[in-house]
Amino acid sequence: MKGVRKTDKFIVLPENINSVLLRLDEHGHTAYIVGGCVRDMCMDIPPNDYDITTSATPDEIERCFSDKRVIRTGIQHGTVTVIINNEPIEITTYRIDGNYADNRHPDSVKFSKKIEDDLARRDFTVNAMCCDKDGNFIDVFGGIEDIKNKIIRCVGDANKRFSEDALRILRALRFASTLEFNIEKHTKEAIRKNAHLLKSISSERIYSEFTKLLCGKNAVDILLEYSDCIGVFIPELLNEVGFEQHNPHHKYDVYEHSVRALDVCSDDAIVRYAVLLHDIAKPICFFTDENGIGHFHGHAKAGESIAYNIMRRLKADNVTCDTVSMLVKYHDYTITPDMRHAKRMLNKFGYENTLRLLEVKSADTSAHVIFDDDRGRHIEEMRMLCEEAYRQQQCFSLKSLAVNGKDIISLGCKEGKSIGKVLDALLWEVIDEKLCNEKDVLLERAKDIIKTCQENIVD
Ligand code: ATP
Ligand code: MG
Repeated sequence: MKGVRKTDKFIVLPENINSVLLRLDEHGHTAYIVGGCVRDMCMDIPPNDYDITTSATPDEIERCFSDKRVIRTGIQHGTVTVIINNEPIEITTYRIDGNYADNRHPDSVKFSKKIEDDLARRDFTVNAMCCDKDGNFIDVFGGIEDIKNKIIRCVGDANKRFSEDALRILRALRFASTLEFNIEKHTKEAIRKNAHLLKSISSERIYSEFTKLLCGKNAVDILLEYSDCIGVFIPELLNEVGFEQHNPHHKYDVYEHSVRALDVCSDDAIVRYAVLLHDIAKPICFFTDENGIGHFHGHAKAGESIAYNIMRRLKADNVTCDTVSMLVKYHDYTITPDMRHAKRMLNKFGYENTLRLLEVKSADTSAHVIFDDDRGRHIEEMRMLCEEAYRQQQCFSLKSLAVNGKDIISLGCKEGKSIGKVLDALLWEVIDEKLCNEKDVLLERAKDIIKTCQENIVD
């Protein structure tokens, strides 16, 4: 068979995967691991999941695993899931995809007995390899060579492949970003030509691939080079492209500034979305003063709802929508690096989101014309203070205050609203280090506060 080679790598498959390949083989079928897991193994990356492809039809697969639980997950595409030792394992019959009338899904699929047919329907050469249980690779389209040269190349005619399923455009950009590969010339031309077809792809599929792209090591270069493709599903970003800031602090246009800021970010998707979108309202808030200097008053606040709507449209979960838009709103939050302010910040945002906000601010600062040393240092100092406060379990929320509502009631304060006010007053005095977080100290102070309140009411 063309493209078969024994790998020089020592392949050790997980036991459950191996047992599935073995069982299919014993029943007279051929079976391979295929796609992303083979690509990752060639690159010495531990695969995150294994896909199995086989000559057996779904009915035949069910018969092979009659002693196991089998779920007919995607039966129309030939996929069944077999549960082995509580692990779900997807097995798909070799298939040939029919026409794609809608730029998304094949109108029909035909099962095949030839592995080459199945490899030919896959998107890129690096994803179109398979490997049997003995470590024999089948690489009909030159995937190993492309991995060596770090190239993303469509299997077959790139124009046809992208018009069949436009999501492949975004997948090409995703792999170029995560694997740090270059995109082959014809594949690149076809991406540009077909980018508009991304409009027909569901938000869920876009969101999943785009999130991986955004968190990839090469995200900055890909986002800069392919803003037109990204703009098909986040058109708001197109307003930023070429939008000059007319401000001595900025050497980049708004889009390039936002993208370059990603360079110093961790791979936390929420932080990355917030950084990408942090200046999304700058174009609508822009004005120049009498000296011709550009300003963007209110852009952080105005960006909150724009970012929220973008994340909603992408079908991000509620926490992601809320957190990304909150980070956009507060990306200009003023920082004073001392313990009191660190605790105030922790109170306002919580620990996890405080660290995220500091990361967004640090990324923003890093992409200014000259790195502002003071600003960068302040953010770093604040991060250390917040971590210290958290590590030392300092009190910055009602949860960790040494008194609670019941204690305040026991002092004779009955009304819910007043109890809350007393607790808040105590908390702020603890945060501001006017009071230590000890029960008897707080109770004494609470009595004073209650007394003052009552006197004010009488007055
Ligand atoms: P990851 O490591 O992120 O899971 P992957 O390559 O395994 O990457 P999957 O989405 O899990 O990506 O897809 C598994 C395999 O199915 C791919 O490697 C590829 O062979 C094939 N594939 C997935 N999506 C498409 C598509 N839209 N068109 C053609 N082939 C595809
Ligand atoms: Mg996969």
